[in-house]
Amino acid sequence: MIKVAIIGYGNLGRGVERSLKQQKDMELVGVYTRRAPESVQTEGAQAFTMDQLEDKKGEIDVCILCGGSATDLPTQTPEWTHLFNTIDSFDTHAKIPEHFAKVDHVAKENQTTSIISTGWDPGLFSLNRLYAQSILPVGQTNTFWGKGVSQGHSDALRRIEGVVDAVQYTIPNSEVIEKLKAGEELALAIRDKHFRECFVVLGEGVDEEAIRNEIITMPNYFADYDTEVHFISQNELNENHKAMPHGGTVIHTGTTHEKTKQVIEYKLQLESNPEFTASVLVAYARACVRLAKEKHFGAYTVLDIAPKYLSDRTDEELRKELL
Ligand code: NDP
Repeated sequence: MIKVAIIGYGNLGRGVERSLKQQKDMELVGVYTRRAPESVQTEGAQAFTMDQLEDKKGEIDVCILCGGSATDLPTQTPEWTHLFNTIDSFDTHAKIPEHFAKVDHVAKENQTTSIISTGWDPGLFSLNRLYAQSILPVGQTNTFWGKGVSQGHSDALRRIEGVVDAVQYTIPNSEVIEKLKAGEELALAIRDKHFRECFVVLGEGVDEEAIRNEIITMPNYFADYDTEVHFISQNELNENHKAMPHGGTVIHTGTTHEKTKQVIEYKLQLESNPEFTASVLVAYARACVRLAKEKHFGAYTVLDIAPKYLSDRTDEELRKELL
């Protein structure tokens, strides 16, 4: 059995606990949190303090980091990769090279293995962009997200001082999608493809305009988009904005001989973004343990991992059943 620990228990952490229950070769040995463990409501797993994790070297095969990308993972992933094999879902696309370099250094020094930036984007969508662009080098790839709640962006909003709670929807520009599917070649800026809509609950006496300005100018998250901000009550947020559906499409339109058109489309329709993302992390946790056993130390991304490493089936079974 692969022994797994969860570090940080929010939406993603809960999703990992649920996903592990469906895996036959993996078991959850504990949830590690910065909060008082008795205040964390798990679905059966035992919760511990972060200090208790330090003593567990050798007893845990892989830690799945479920903190937020904005401020948790940039420090937590390198910190815990000192002691354990790790997986994270770091999704600040522009900062992935920097995060990779930091984790790679720690992992190589300490002979551990880490797979960073797993999930669906970055993650499965990245893989599909790679497949499409390698197979059809003459072509154009476009990725659309939503309409759905972006956890990374919602998390970034909640970290702003004065914000009590917040949800962010990513909305694809459907007109542009239709034009692409009809074969139009478009030069698209980031701003043309998606809109962002934020529903924000503020603390008492917090200045709405100051917060609105902080949001729409936030680099990497909102500055490059048309962003609408609505200030609402906690009750309204709870009633209308607590489901976490998401999804998206990677569309690659390419040509082969002369003008023969070929379209590749990879689509996800998710009723729960965190539960799905968690399931991707769990499959990559298995790959991480296998890489570590083979002494492939250092940091990796989904682009480096052979697909068979995700599976609990043998190579022979996979050849027989899937080819
Ligand atoms: P949450 O805000 O729910 O949780 C983040 C951290 O906050 C937790 O690890 C937890 O740490 C702490 N926390 C959770 N609940 C509470 C609470 N009630 N009070 C105080 N602290 C709390 O974030 P999500 O789980 O929704 O998302 C995590 C990250 O997942 C996102 O930032 C995003 O980057 C990533 N993601 C990546 C995707 C991809 O495709 N690559 C897709 C979706 C998400 P602790 O227990 O230590 O307090």
